[in-house]
Amino acid sequence: MPLISVCVPCHNEQESLPIFVDALTSVAAAMHAESPDLSFELILVDDGSTDKTLEVIRDLQGTTDLLLPVRWTSFSRNFGKEAGIFAGLKMAKGDYVTTMDADMQDPPSLLPRMYGILAHDDTYDCVATRRMNRAGEPPIRSFFARMFYRIINKMSQTEFVDGARDFRLMRRRMVNAVLSMGEYNRFSKGIFSWVGFETCWIAYENVERAAGNTSWSFWSLLKYSIDGIVGFTTAPLAWASVAGAFFSVVALVFLLVVVIRALAFGDPVSGWPSTMSVILLLGGLNLLVLGIMGQYLAKTYLETKARPLYIVKESSDETSDGVPQ
Ligand code: UDP
Ligand code: MG
Repeated sequence: MPLISVCVPCHNEQESLPIFVDALTSVAAAMHAESPDLSFELILVDDGSTDKTLEVIRDLQGTTDLLLPVRWTSFSRNFGKEAGIFAGLKMAKGDYVTTMDADMQDPPSLLPRMYGILAHDDTYDCVATRRMNRAGEPPIRSFFARMFYRIINKMSQTEFVDGARDFRLMRRRMVNAVLSMGEYNRFSKGIFSWVGFETCWIAYENVERAAGNTSWSFWSLLKYSIDGIVGFTTAPLAWASVAGAFFSVVALVFLLVVVIRALAFGDPVSGWPSTMSVILLLGGLNLLVLGIMGQYLAKTYLETKARPLYIVKESSDETSDGVPQ
C-alpha cells in the first residue's frame, strides 16, 4: 500500500493553509478513487509563525477526513524554509514524499500526474516542477533571479534549473539521500540536484499566492543566493587566487619599470595620480578577496558548530515522556 507524504513548511500562512488543505484533500480523494490502495499523510511544519498558523494546524488535525491524516511540528522560532523542508522530510514516513508550499503556488492538481509518472516509470526517482514564466513577479526580481541562475550554473558543477520549484515528488531512496545531507547551510535546489537520481521535469504556468504575503524580501533572497553559491561552488576562491596571481605579475612588471626608469632618468617627483590609482585598485581588490574568503570562513564556522537545523517546541508526534520528536 503506497503511502504519499505531503510536507509543507508554513510561516504565517493562516489564510492560505485552509485553502491549500481543501484543495489537497480533493486531489487526494480523486487519486484514492483511481487507485484505492493509495494512502496519504499531511505533514505541516510551523516555522515560528507569529500569526494563528499553529491554531489553524491544530484545528485541521481533527477535521481532515481519514484520507489525509495530519501530523505536525512547531518550531521554537523562525528557522527558515530550508529547515522546515528538512523537518518535514524527516517526519515523513511515505514511500513517496512531496514538498509543497502552503500558498497554492505549487498547485496540488499536478500531484496525480507526478505520481502517475513515478508509478509507471521506474527510470525516474523524482518528478520536479518548474515555472515556465515568472508572471506576476516584479521585473527587477525576475532579472536578478535569471542572473543568479546564469552565474551559478557557470560556476558550479551542480546543475541549477531556472524556475525550478521546491515542489517535487520523490521516491523514498531519494528522500533518504537528501536526509543524509545534514549540512547547516541548506540550499534545497542544489541539494536535490547534488544527490543525483533521474528527475523528470514538468513545467507549468506561474500561479500567484492564494492569500497572505511572501516571506521573502529582496535582501533575504540575495542572502539566500549567496548561500547557494557558497554552498555549491568554491569557484570564487579560485578566482580570488587567479586575480591575486595576475595582479602580482602586473605589480612586478610595474616595479621593474619604476626601478629602471629611476636608475636611467633619475627620480622626478611625479606620478601621484598613478600611485593613488594603484593603491586604490589593490586596496579594493584586497578587501574583495578578503570578503570572499570571509564568506567561506563564516559558513565553515557555522558548519563546525554543528548546531541543530531547528528546535521543535511542540509536535503531534510527542513521545511518552512528552519530548517532541
Ligand atoms: N516559509 C517558511 N519559512 C520561512 C519562509 C517561508 O516555512 O521563513 C514557507 C511559506 O510558508 C511557504 C513556503 O515556505 O509555504 C514558500 O514561501 P513564500 O511563498 O513566502 O515564498 P515564495 O513563493 O515567494 O518564493
Ligand atoms: Mg509562495
